[in-house]
Amino acid sequence: MNKRTSKTHVLGEPDQSRLLDTDVGAFLAFLTVVVVGIWAHHGGFNNLGLSATNTATSLDQITGLLASESGILGLILITRTPMLERRYGLDRLFNWHRVLGASMSIFLLLHVVFSVWAWSTPGGLFAAVKSLTGGEPYMAMASVGAVLVGVVTITSIRSIRNSMTYEMWYFIHLVAYIGLALSFSHQITLGADFSTDKLARWTWVGLHIVVVLWIIWSRWRTLILSIVHPYKVSAVSHPAPGLIAVTLNSPVISRHRAHAGQFYLLRQLVPGKWWKTNPFSLSSVPSSAGLRFTIKSRGESSDAMTKIRVGTKVAIEGPYGVCTPEIIGNEPVLMVAGGVGIGPIVSLAENLSSHHKPIIVYRAHSQKEMVHVEEIDALMKKLGGQLFTVIGPRAALKVSDPFAAEVLRKSVPDIADRVVIVAGPESLIKAVQKGARKAGVPTDRIHAERAWW
Ligand SMILES: Cc1cc2nc3c(=O)[nH]c(=O)nc-3n(C[C@H](O)[C@H](O)[C@H](O)COP(=O)(O)OP(=O)(O)OC[C@H]3O[C@@H](n4cnc5c(N)ncnc54)[C@H](O)[C@@H]3O)c2cc1C
Repeated sequence: MNKRTSKTHVLGEPDQSRLLDTDVGAFLAFLTVVVVGIWAHHGGFNNLGLSATNTATSLDQITGLLASESGILGLILITRTPMLERRYGLDRLFNWHRVLGASMSIFLLLHVVFSVWAWSTPGGLFAAVKSLTGGEPYMAMASVGAVLVGVVTITSIRSIRNSMTYEMWYFIHLVAYIGLALSFSHQITLGADFSTDKLARWTWVGLHIVVVLWIIWSRWRTLILSIVHPYKVSAVSHPAPGLIAVTLNSPVISRHRAHAGQFYLLRQLVPGKWWKTNPFSLSSVPSSAGLRFTIKSRGESSDAMTKIRVGTKVAIEGPYGVCTPEIIGNEPVLMVAGGVGIGPIVSLAENLSSHHKPIIVYRAHSQKEMVHVEEIDALMKKLGGQLFTVIGPRAALKVSDPFAAEVLRKSVPDIADRVVIVAGPESLIKAVQKGARKAGVPTDRIHAERAWW
């Protein structure tokens, strides 16, 4: 726990999102009606089936518009707008962003195919390619844009992505912004949708301006503010080999709002490291004594974090995440942590009361890797809760699957009545979800913050 004195206080909570699924559905439906309406209004439906050229032109138009719509929606999802993030969580938003990115690429590919088909009719394939890669105004830019989006798509294929570092993949991914910007002008000047229809043109331009301002305000402003007003490392401790507990503080921390269980993107503001950012969870209730993170060295960036010194400036983006006390409410709770996943579980446990009858299951490979055990013991004593540990390599465990339904039911007989929270590696999350579901816990009462990469 952070060293708290009588003067320290738990930070205020972030506002709840008032966004409803129906609001999101209505926005999606509205945008799709606008897109399909623009296409239909300019002969899209009528041209289908008239002749091969007309059909190709019509399909060329609608696939182009749908590619843009998918791109716009995908960009909105990664603005990290608090209203969206607090409602759905960053992991889900990033996953939907990925689905929309894939949809955009498919529509874009179809758009290219139908464009070449439509333009081939008068002068042949060679003339079509020539016009579409530079002959027509802004088409050279659009072609470069399409190639850039193609590069981002290919490098996002899981097997290719896994062969790169996160940072390399991320910076290649940013090229998609340039690709989309380059393709914008040809949408306005070419084809019947916008070049001749003032209202449609300004609706489309206006929509893009709103999205650009949205990205600048929500994403880039937050990023810049995090760098301009950094936190500083106020304390460090090494609770186990290769692990660090870092406390960050700022003179204005009292104004900051965060929930136990949430996470931040941390960026060390030191030469050579400032461009790397990694997600880490609060491992103590956020208070005016500071924000504590427990970090394990897993790769280059997290290793650098485990060597951080008191006084280092750190830019923080967040808080993010929806695994907060709100999802527990007043229900009894079972929390399962794997390895360093114990961090968010400790911060959530600090927030509980005895009526939550908390049970914590802590899975670790060895005793020496276990951290914050004294804190958990003290908390469980105070709350009348229980701590179970599952220690050792898998092969050495008494049971082959410590999270099988029958094992969970034996240790936690009332598991079906509990909210289940799990934090740790993906394999552990999946095992607990499967076991808990089979043991009778409804899916919507099992919560986990997942990695999004
Ligand atoms: C929501 C969330 C909360 C987390 N909380 C903690 C915590 O409290 N303590 C802790 O020790 N670890 C935590 N992690 C994991 C931690 O972020 C990774 O261990 C760390 O990013 C490893 O990065 P690396 O560059 O050192 O290692 P690498 O070997 O480069 O990366 C290891 C793996 O980490 C992931 N990763 C790397 N960089 C990022 C990034 N910027 N964004 C997303 N994933 C990335 C990738 O899946 C990669 O395969 C959390 C992860 C997530 C998603």
